[in-house]
Amino acid sequence: MTIKLFRNARIYTPISSSSSCAGGKADYSISLWKSGAVLVKNGLIARIGDEANVLAGLSHKQVDQEISCEDRCLVPGFVDPHTHMCFSALREAEFSERLAGTPYLEILKAGGGILSSVRSVRGSTDDFLFQSTRKNVITALLNGTTTMEIKSGYGLDTKTEIRMLKVMERIARETPLDIVTTFMGAHAVPSEYMGDTNGYVDLLVNEMIPAVSNDCSPSFCDVFCEEGVFSVPQSRRILLTAKEYKMAPKIHADEVNDVGGAALAAQIGAVSAEHLLAAKDENLVAMAKAGVLAVLLPATAYSLRKPYANARRMIELGLTVALSTDCNPGSSYTQSMPFVFGLSVMNMMMTVEEALVACTLNAARAIRMDSLVGSLEIGKYADFVILDGDSPAIMAYQNGVSPVDSVFKRGECMTKVFQDRICSR
Ligand SMILES: [Zn+2]
Repeated sequence: MTIKLFRNARIYTPISSSSSCAGGKADYSISLWKSGAVLVKNGLIARIGDEANVLAGLSHKQVDQEISCEDRCLVPGFVDPHTHMCFSALREAEFSERLAGTPYLEILKAGGGILSSVRSVRGSTDDFLFQSTRKNVITALLNGTTTMEIKSGYGLDTKTEIRMLKVMERIARETPLDIVTTFMGAHAVPSEYMGDTNGYVDLLVNEMIPAVSNDCSPSFCDVFCEEGVFSVPQSRRILLTAKEYKMAPKIHADEVNDVGGAALAAQIGAVSAEHLLAAKDENLVAMAKAGVLAVLLPATAYSLRKPYANARRMIELGLTVALSTDCNPGSSYTQSMPFVFGLSVMNMMMTVEEALVACTLNAARAIRMDSLVGSLEIGKYADFVILDGDSPAIMAYQNGVSPVDSVFKRGECMTKVFQDRICSR
């Protein structure tokens, strides 16, 4: 057994028992120990709290390694509950075109946009896709993310969707992060089915979902429910089929137009609904009542120069709000949860406490990992981030550089293991 003691830390963490999710208003309070310590046994938190209490009855001989946090702030490892990090090519030229004013539809017609990501993923070897995904995942890890969700959805045919999910499963085996996978064959309509969305939905329901569930084990199924993509009835059909195959539903809902995606999320008991920029109050209330989490993606609004989701309103309505990068090559190319934290505080008017809960415990709830991660509590994984500041506010206060001093996954220092490799790339 390895026992490690982390001392001299200013510990900020949500506590799961005091922040209930379903029914009643979500709780965004934070516990703080100004002179805190964490005792880690075999990668799990054995003791946490005021240093004097943690040290009580503990002899130095029992501790294998002692680490001083030098009065810095220690927070739970970030959980990124919504990413499209499995892709093989960036779309930087397209980003420049967008900045120059070319509308997305024109980019799409010229062969760019999401369908160019589909082409590059279909044309990549498994190993290339693995390496490019791994690069994103390790960048996220070095920025404090210790658990994440990754979606498929750049294959849009049975074979490539399964290849993507297998690559993600390899990422889960060969990197230290905890990875949760989502099948998102309904990310877009592939060019072979242009003008025949119902035909593609038939393929999803009759072939892809059964095949994916046979060959891989994604925890969730997600659908892009939006005007011109998948309608509410089509989304319902896909998600209810996926539910039969033990994939819990998630929905990209009401990002551009209020098509009723949030209402659908409440009706079918989705785990979460994402984006929600255009969702009506009554549908948000229905979500809160049904215990559906709101996953907000401010880096997408930033990257698209669009308005931000109304996080304040959602919190007032009692919703459990989580934050995420939405990392993808088109509309949000960032792996950094501290950046998302900063955007949520500065541009969505979330408090520092709310943003911290939304990046940790609520994010873990959005991917059903909250029994293991998301808060620093006895028995949970010793996943935490040491920030080079006094409080989590440093992530909004300091901009453009990483405030992350070091990252620990199950008590092991990831910064030491991976930093050199990334730098020498
Ligand atoms: Zn997304």
